This record gives sequence, C-alpha cells and structure tokens, in this order.
Amino acid sequence: KLHNTILELKGNIRVFCRVRPLLPPTCSNGTDGAVVSYPTSLEFLGRGIDLAQNAQVYSFAFDQVFNHEASQEDVFVEISQLVQSALDGYKVCIFAYGQTGSGKTYTMMGNPECAEQSGLIPRSLEQIFQTSQSLTCQGWKYKMQASTLEIYNETIRDLLSPIRGSNPEANGTKQYTIKHDSNGNTVVSDLTIVDVCSMEEVSFLLQQAAQSRSVGRTQMNDQSSRSHFVFTLRIFGVNEDTEQQVQGVLNLIDLAGSERLAKSGSTGDRLRETQAINKSLSALSDVIYAIAKKDDHVPFRNSKLTYLLQPCLGGDSKTLMFVNISPEASSAGESLCSLRFAARVN
Ligand code: ADP
Ligand code: MG
Repeated sequence: KLHNTILELKGNIRVFCRVRPLLPPTCSNGTDGAVVSYPTSLEFLGRGIDLAQNAQVYSFAFDQVFNHEASQEDVFVEISQLVQSALDGYKVCIFAYGQTGSGKTYTMMGNPECAEQSGLIPRSLEQIFQTSQSLTCQGWKYKMQASTLEIYNETIRDLLSPIRGSNPEANGTKQYTIKHDSNGNTVVSDLTIVDVCSMEEVSFLLQQAAQSRSVGRTQMNDQSSRSHFVFTLRIFGVNEDTEQQVQGVLNLIDLAGSERLAKSGSTGDRLRETQAINKSLSALSDVIYAIAKKDDHVPFRNSKLTYLLQPCLGGDSKTLMFVNISPEASSAGESLCSLRFAARVN
C-alpha cells in the first residue's frame, strides 16, 4: 500500500518449514537422517514410522525450507518484509506450529540472553521501532499498542494483567469475551492494552508475559506447551504532511504443541487439554484451508484462536505459518503429521 512494500505472495498465505538441529548429547553432526531438506522442498525419510522399519521417502514442497544450519538471522531475513508490511497498514499473522520440542519457541522468542539467538518476535519488534523512527522525517507519526494473551483449554488469559502475578486465581475467574467492532477490529473485553514507544518497553512486557506464563505453569503442570501464546501489536500511523492514515496489526503466535496423546491412558485434565488443543489446531487448519481455497464460508467461530484472529486472517491480510520439525527418528511419526498439516494449508 505505502512505502512501496510489495510482497509477491502466492495468495496471502505462505508456509515455511524449519528443521531444528539434533540437540546434545544425542549427536552434533546435523540430523540423524530422518529429514533431508532443500531450499523449497523437503524429503522426509519415514524411518521408524511403521513396524516394518522401511525407509519410505515422503516429499513436501514449501515456500521455504530452513535446515538445521539456518541461523535466527537467516530466518528473519526471509520474513522482514512481511513484518514491514504491518507498518504499511496490513494485518499480519505469523504462527509457529509443531510438536513440543520442535523449536517453536526458539523460532518465535529465541534465547533472550543471547542476541544472536534472539527470535522473530524481538527481531520483528526491533525492526518496527527502527523503521517507524526513520519514517518520521517523511512526516509519519506512529502510535503502537501491545497486548499479550494465552489461550488454554479454550479460555483466554491476559498475560499483562497486574492482578495475575499476585493472585492468579482472581485472573482466572475473569471472562474475557471476544467481539469484533464496526471497524473490523478484535476487541477482547478487559484485556490489558499497553501503549509502547520503544523496544525497551516491549521487552519489559515480554518479560512480564513470560513471568505470568510461568506463574500459571506451577499452578497447573507444564502448561506453556499446552497453550497458545499470542502477542499483538497494533500500529496506527498518520502522515502529518499528507494526512494519510494507516492501521496495521502484527500478531505473533506460538501455538500449543501439536502432538497427539496415546489413545489409551489419557484421562481427566490431560484428555481435556488435548481435546481442546486438537480442536483449535484443526479449526485453524480448516480456516486457513478455506481461505486458501477462497471458500465463501470460513469457519472462524469454531475456536477462540480463529475467532480472535478473524480480522487478521483472509481479506488482504498476510499469513505465514512456520512448521517446526524435530529431526530425530523417534519423532518421525509426529513430524509426518506436522508435514501433512502443512501440506494441507500450503
Ligand atoms: P517448542 O517450543 O516447540 O516446544 P523449543 O523452542 O523449546 O521447542 O525447542 C526445544 C529445544 O531445542 C530448546 O532447548 C531449544 O533451545 C532447542 N532448539 C530449537 N530450535 C533450535 C535451533 N534452530 N537451533 C538450536 N537449538 C534449537
Ligand atoms: Mg515452546
């Protein structure tokens, strides 16, 4: 729209695949052969998937494949234009999908203690602040608002709520309802929204969100892998010379682990969690698939996540899905499920 950011998208949905390295102490020389990747296609050796142990090869095509050698910077270079388009007034969603341990959080958040290993969220936000500042000389003034929430068992939790740190239970009783206003924006009742002007301010919020997540975690098992994490930055731009206005949104989403539980043995809370995750991930897949096919009916209302993101999916918004893959042969079954999920939305 503005600043001549033209993304040549194949539709508005792109799918990137990232295969993480083997982790110590297993092995240090790349993958153990479960996955072989190329720039845009991935050959997957289905070793260990069936009892016959035959190494069937499955091929998948993506917009981009990153192998175990790709650095955080290598990955960011490929999405920086997409991030930029949020400043130009687009609605953008970037998701990380995959089983627990496949590198979703590493891809999105990275290691906060090491600049080289920082992930897409801090890199994207840094770029947005830098670019918005450099555009002030062309008359642009921006106002930005951040919010961050998690969706656990189809229930929204505000990760910036001041109540939450001291008394998580009080927060738990709040009913956050999702509405869409007349301008087509999502409004979550009672959600904390913070004006942000600098990377320092956002970093502080990210720390606060991480802390809220870990408070919840000690209350109920390890929940971080069982909930969807959503960071939202709203961008309002006005050009004081030309009076042009833009409103963009950047949503950065670390999805709940996609792993299936063994059919037997999961009961009670675990079963309920898994059902909620399966429901919302398949609802997300259905929505993206319907958008890609240009269906008249897109089933946004089938989960909290898709209803929340409705204004930012479809239309002229832009969506990028990372499919994170663990290279271990022991994860081959789950990896194949993730690749098939991606092949459907791609
Ligand atoms: P998930 O969020 O999908 O459960 P994590 O992002 O926590 O997975 O990754 C699991 C482990 O693998 C972490 O210790 C993380 O640091 C490491 N890891 C993931 N991806 C990479 C990568 N590309 N390079 C190096 N280490 C990685
Ligand atoms: Mg994670």
